[in-house]
Amino acid sequence: MTQGTNLLDYDREALAAFFVERGEKRFRADQVIQWVHQNGVNEFEHMSNISKSLRAWLADHCEISLPEIIRDEVSSDGTRKWLLKLHDGNAIETVFIPEADRGTLCISSQAGCILDCTFCATAQQGFSRNLSTGEILAQVWLAHRLLDAFNQRNRVISNIVMMGMGEPLANFSNVVGAIHIITDKDVGLGFSSRRITVSTAGLVPKLSDLGRETTVNLAISLNATENKTRDMLMPINRKYPIENLLNACAKYPLMTRRKITFEYILLKGINDSEEDAKRLVRLLRPIKAKINLIPFNTHQESQFECPEESVILKFKDILSKNNYTAIIRHSKGQDISAACGQLKANMI
Ligand code: SAH
Repeated sequence: MTQGTNLLDYDREALAAFFVERGEKRFRADQVIQWVHQNGVNEFEHMSNISKSLRAWLADHCEISLPEIIRDEVSSDGTRKWLLKLHDGNAIETVFIPEADRGTLCISSQAGCILDCTFCATAQQGFSRNLSTGEILAQVWLAHRLLDAFNQRNRVISNIVMMGMGEPLANFSNVVGAIHIITDKDVGLGFSSRRITVSTAGLVPKLSDLGRETTVNLAISLNATENKTRDMLMPINRKYPIENLLNACAKYPLMTRRKITFEYILLKGINDSEEDAKRLVRLLRPIKAKINLIPFNTHQESQFECPEESVILKFKDILSKNNYTAIIRHSKGQDISAACGQLKANMI
């Protein structure tokens, strides 16, 4: 039940303003954020360096609102998926992917998605609403709590990717607000921005905003090399076709030694030909790019198929021969529908 002001919705500046407005010192905001995001404390009574009277006031008027964990599943490969119920009944999913050299948390930015990509399970549930900054941060907070990771910060969870449900750039200010806390080295979680990735289907006008306001990694879900194919797979392409998208990518203000990641789902007979691979090489030439090839993950009612392994390897080979780093990303967590494109907040 929501009661008071949810302090998770505030970034450092906004929380300082909130306290100052109430006649408190700015640094109280830093203390609260540190308790919450560095120490994993969500009850005001445990914030021991804050005066008793302020703690009591906070407990009466504010809260650290967290979604309810409806389901907690572990895949045979160790991938873990949480189904979370928001205060208004909407549900979202968050996925943790442990690997030998890293632990990646995949978080959602919207309840559902508006983009309607034909291959993606999230599209089938339609769009409900944007997540607040607090709802985005709550996924990170809960994952730290459930993985007992607050004490080993940035080791258990080393990377955060905005590749869950929704289109992060369609919820720009809340996503950026969350990134500020995640990357804040003084009072927040202190993640290096090179360990955060925002993935977009290609909301072209928002790309330059992202580059201006953050230094996180950018991933583009490209998935096709011709407009007619991409129009069919990703309706957003009718608004922002491939050439516009790639022009914006070429202009993107990349940090030194970084590259834009292009995600490319391989769909049998649709976008997996040798001509596609060669076209991809030509298209990406003006851009500092690396490529993640994602063999299609099937899900209920999907009309697409995954290509044969030999076709996938041939595709990768063409990219590699042209000096692109191309990695085949076999998705994890398929047995619990936690893989790319399988997230669908099914409460039943
Ligand atoms: N809306 C953003 C964030 C979601 S990321 C975006 O489009 O980038 C989800 C990633 O999973 C995207 O790269 C998408 O292309 C990929 N994906 C979606 N459905 C998939 C499926 N069935 N199999 C494999 N990858 C899929």
